[in-house]
Amino acid sequence: MKIAVIGTGYVGLVAGACLAENGNDVICVDKDAAKVRALQRGRIPIYEPGLEELVRRNRGERRLTFTTDLAKGVRSSQIVFIAVGTPTGEDGSADLRHVLEVARQIGKSMNGYKVIVDKSTVPVGTSEKVRDVVKKETSHPFSVVSNPEFLKQGAAIEDFMKPDRVVIGAEDQRAGEIMKELYAPFTRTGAPIMMMDCASAELCKYAANAMLATRISFMNEVANVCELVGADVDHVRRAVASDRRIGAAFLFPGVGYGGSCFPKDVKAMMKFASAKNYEFEILQAVETVNERQKVRLFGKMKQHFGSLRGKRIAIWGLAFKPKTDDMREAPAVPLISALLDAGASVAAYDPEALKVARAIFSNRVDFKEKSYDALSSADALAIVTEWHEFREPDWTRIKKLLKNPVVFDGRNIYNPDQLRGLGFTYYSMGRR
Ligand code: NAD
Repeated sequence: MKIAVIGTGYVGLVAGACLAENGNDVICVDKDAAKVRALQRGRIPIYEPGLEELVRRNRGERRLTFTTDLAKGVRSSQIVFIAVGTPTGEDGSADLRHVLEVARQIGKSMNGYKVIVDKSTVPVGTSEKVRDVVKKETSHPFSVVSNPEFLKQGAAIEDFMKPDRVVIGAEDQRAGEIMKELYAPFTRTGAPIMMMDCASAELCKYAANAMLATRISFMNEVANVCELVGADVDHVRRAVASDRRIGAAFLFPGVGYGGSCFPKDVKAMMKFASAKNYEFEILQAVETVNERQKVRLFGKMKQHFGSLRGKRIAIWGLAFKPKTDDMREAPAVPLISALLDAGASVAAYDPEALKVARAIFSNRVDFKEKSYDALSSADALAIVTEWHEFREPDWTRIKKLLKNPVVFDGRNIYNPDQLRGLGFTYYSMGRR
């Protein structure tokens, strides 16, 4: 099939590359000329495992091309995906500016029937808005489809190639059939293609993200209570997770959720519910708990040191989760800001997010290219992102490098007994 993907970010680039991998001709469009130039030269502007290889292969086969020319992309395609950002607007709702601008440009560029697919996460009613905007610009026939994306950064290719399910909101049969055909190769192992109306499809994505964020905030609260009553959240988590009605995923306490999706989608869902005079109170609490949790590690540091003025804290992990370079809403950002405000200095290391982190903090943080280099003369080590390479470190070397053998583990990746046995003062989340 001939496909255009408008917006070549984490979702658009992965979707474009995966669709090309299955034999489609895909033209990826972005208004960011520097990004497009880089992609045309085979350079991937983001870190996502396996993506570079996938893009290289499909570029080589000429099934995947990149352009800033949206009209060219639309004219040469039957299916046009909208995969641009929907950031939080000033009032907390999803800002649809980019989606509707792209819809307008698609309308202007039409040269025949198109299926216009909204892949961006958008509130209920957006497909109608897109339809109205396109209709104003063209007399060519078209269908609007809602196809929310459920991929996880860090495992995006696997998720796109082998989705748990594909959700398609389509109001007409022709578009529904085209979408089913497009996704058939991705669902050969039996994952369902769920056909529904656009409103339900649009809501699915928010409901899924809000549920996951709720699980995280819930377990963070359980961990906080564990600390107060002298219980161990690891035992509690395992027991709770073994209940088949609950399951094990997303029950790990930590330093709060971040990323480009959970925070904004929780906010947007509250907002569109309240626009209908419904206060989504659970989500309000989910957000409040998360904000509190993001500075909880800082609270532990303050309690340990008294004053943080003049202290040097080494941080391992800056991205909002492992296997990505994304620092949007990353818990490392408020933690580092709080440390700097308190008069501490920060040395930080992340395997992939250093470039992004430098753009945020510039020379206010001493960024290191190697993990152990961040430890020299630091008063403590803090784990903020649970990258694999942090899991089995050389504790003798760490003890030698640190000024004080103190570890603040925001992700519970170490064994408290082992660390104490090695002579470390060890803090984690919700454990004895
Ligand atoms: P992103 O910021 O990484 O990428 C968006 C891209 O769109 C950018 O490259 C930007 O330059 C481009 N763009 C904006 N306006 C444009 C225009 N008028 N013409 C052409 N290009 C334009 O965003 P993302 O993380 O890929 O997210 C995109 C959407 O997918 C959002 O709605 C998000 O909520 C949703 N989503 C994201 C994820 C995720 O893990 N990142 C997962 C599922 C769904």
